[in-house]
Parts: sequence; C-alpha cells; structure tokens
Amino acid sequence: MFKLSKKVQALPPYLFLEIDKAKRKARAEGRDIIDLGVGDPDQPTPKFIIDALSKAAQDPANHRYALDQGMPVLRNAISGWYKRRFNVNLNPDTEILPLIGSKEGIAHFPLAFLNPGDLSLVPDPCYPPYKGGTILAGGKPHLMPLLESNAFLPDLNKIPFMARKKAKIIFVNYPNNPTNACAGDDFYKRLIEFAAKNKIIIISDLAYSEMAYDGYKPRSLLEFPGARDITIEFHSLSKTFNMTGWRIGWASGNPQLIGALAKVKSNIDSGIFSAIQLAGVAALDGPQDYLKSMCRLYQERRDILCEGLAALGWKAVKPKATFYVWIKIPPKESSIDFAGRLLKDADIVATPGVGFGKYGEGYIRMALTVPKERIEEALERIEKIA
Ligand SMILES: *Cc1c(COP(=O)(O)O)cnc(C)c1O
Repeated sequence: MFKLSKKVQALPPYLFLEIDKAKRKARAEGRDIIDLGVGDPDQPTPKFIIDALSKAAQDPANHRYALDQGMPVLRNAISGWYKRRFNVNLNPDTEILPLIGSKEGIAHFPLAFLNPGDLSLVPDPCYPPYKGGTILAGGKPHLMPLLESNAFLPDLNKIPFMARKKAKIIFVNYPNNPTNACAGDDFYKRLIEFAAKNKIIIISDLAYSEMAYDGYKPRSLLEFPGARDITIEFHSLSKTFNMTGWRIGWASGNPQLIGALAKVKSNIDSGIFSAIQLAGVAALDGPQDYLKSMCRLYQERRDILCEGLAALGWKAVKPKATFYVWIKIPPKESSIDFAGRLLKDADIVATPGVGFGKYGEGYIRMALTVPKERIEEALERIEKIA
C-alpha cells in the first residue's frame, strides 16, 4: 500500500537471508550446528567492565539524558588510550566523538557531506554500512574491487577520472573485514596523497586494531603526516572488549569532520547511556593483559582452523589480524551454493563472500568465534564430506 522511498529501494539486498533461514531451520530440527558465520565474540565481556557498569547503573546521576558529545571523562580516556597506543595526541573536546557503536557513526557520516549525485569510494567486498550509509544519504557507492592480486587493497590508480571528481568520501578498513588483509605504511601514504590531491575525506574503520597476531600491531592512519587534515577514524569497543551488545565506539580525527558528524547525530540520537560510557572508561583504562589473552585465544583457534583447512587442501591464508578466515572456493560453485552445501551436509555455517559485495564471490568467510574443540569438530566434518 505504501511506496518505499527510492533510497530504501536502492539499498543492496540482504543476501544472508537464505543462510539465516536455513540455519534457523536446521537448529529447529535439533541439528548440532557449528556457527562460524557471525563476527561476534563468543567470550563474555571482562568482569572489571561489567562491575563498572553495575556500579554506574546504581547512580541516579547516570539515568538522565547523556551529553550528545559524550562525557568528558570518556573523551579523556579515549585521548589517553590513543596517546598510549598510537602516540597520537588528540584534543578530547574537538577531535573525539563517542558513538552508540561505530556502525551508527559510519552510517550517519555520509549525511554530513554527500549531496545527490555525489559518490563514495567503497571497497568491495566490505562491511555493509559503507554502501548503506552512502545510499541513505542520497549518494552513490563507486566500487573499488579488493582483489587477491592486489593484496585486497583498492587500486587507487584504477579509479576513473570522473569518479575521483565526484567522490567526497573514501572508505578504508584495515585490518579488513571480511578479507582479513592488513594495510602497510606505503598504502596509507599513497592513500593520503590521493585523497588530499582530490579533496576526498578518508573514513578509516579501525574496528580490529587490537585483534592482531604474531607481534603485528596495526597502525592508526592519524599517525601519518597529512592524515589529520582529511581523516576521520572509527573505533569500537565491540570486538576489542567483547562488548558488541553494549553499543559503544567513537570517531576521532579532523575537528571539522568530527563536528559535522556531531551535528548530524544531535538531530538523530541523544547520546550513550552514561553508565555504559563509564564502563567504557574502565575498559580503556583497564588491565592490558586482558587483550593479550584475547589475542592468544583467537590465535590458537586460527592456527587450528588454517592448518586443518590446509591439510584438507583448502586455500586459506593465516590472518595477521581480525578473527576472520577468508577462504577461496573452487570456481565451479557460487559462494551461496558452497555455504548452503556446508550447512546441509556438515551442519557448519559460513558466510558466502558475495554477501559482502560482488567481488566477494569465489570466497567464504569463517569467524574464529567458537571454542577450539568445535573448530576441530568442524574440520572432521569437512573431511567427511570432501
Ligand atoms: C564489527 C565491526 C564494526 C563494529 O561495529 P560496532 O557498531 O562498533 O559494534 C565496525 N566495522 C567493521 C568492519 C566491523 O566488522
């Protein structure tokens, strides 16, 4: 009866629907499903963070509307964390904006800078809100294929002249979901030069900055000369502290970009529950050995899964960061069919690559979000159907 807006009609279809339905059906039938599909930590939030929330929740001062720009104590904690982690000084008043999870900030940001007909340069495959946020703002995504032949980095030289001229924003996400690729300094330097020359804003999604292995430490784009004039970086407590359900993250970077996002948001939401902000302070200021043990846990699972898959002849590179394994599948089958068959024959859920965009076709993604015993069980099941 009612006609959807053109913007909503233009949103990409939700390709995980079929898999979701099949997964629910299999569970309802009582089958023992191993779910490697969702990028959501299986471990609980650390106790010291929950304790901080419990305490803060008791204080009536925290029950009222929070400040739109976040509590000063949280912005100071973020600034301190940034200094310790990246040796970057950020002004907590103008260069940091707490968010209700980084997803909302990423999705709302294009509203501040896109006009009809403007483009965003969007990697493909990618985290879906880059495309969704662009379309809802009236812009159009211009896809930058992430190909194995270019280490899953966008080839900036291949962006056509008119796309460069019409683009207002470029999205990058390293360590990357879903391909687990990491960006080197040389790529970041080329990116900054490209964006500055073409007057394009860089959105850098750093959700996985703390989930890295073998001594690798992902860098912030804000460490690089010239970046601070043109970059907004998105961070999240979700993956770092097993807090996906809590909804807390932040943006940091250029004051004009931060201010514009704050202006958009002041018309949409009314800040993060103050008790959650105080729990966020506890997380950022908390004991750092927690992060080491988290990375050790995923690293052990990574080694079991990747070495097991390699022994079965599958093509999966061991990730240096993130909790995703990006697996090349034989070309004779689509990623949706391949994932469907894994579920039907082995009761294993994996995400078809095409769900992240057309250049994700030919791959499936597995998340290291089940205990190692379950990963071993998954390998045994795969061996049986192979
Ligand atoms: C999980 C994830 C996020 C984090 O989202 P929140 O809204 O902070 O929970 C952001 N970017 C990517 C690429 C992710 O995978």
